[in-house]
Amino acid sequence: MNVPTFEEIREALRVPRIYELDVPVINRQEARQKGFVRYFTGTRCKNGHISERNTLSGACIACDRVRYELRRVSDETE
Ligand SMILES: [Zn+2]
Repeated sequence: MNVPTFEEIREALRVPRIYELDVPVINRQEARQKGFVRYFTGTRCKNGHISERNTLSGACIACDRVRYELRRVSDETE
């Protein structure tokens, strides 16, 4: 079984380092109060994405996408 690394997946997807986002910079608490599904802090996640985050989990949207692709690819190769 040859499962690509997280880095290889990210490279393959060409996840942009900087998104052109049309969302206001607000914190998670404010997003929750306003009922937003996503929010944007303008700071990088631990993997270097400047991306929106999921209000419920606080997870980086770009990381979620990479994780999803990683799982999908590894399922196909098993
Ligand atoms: Zn991320």
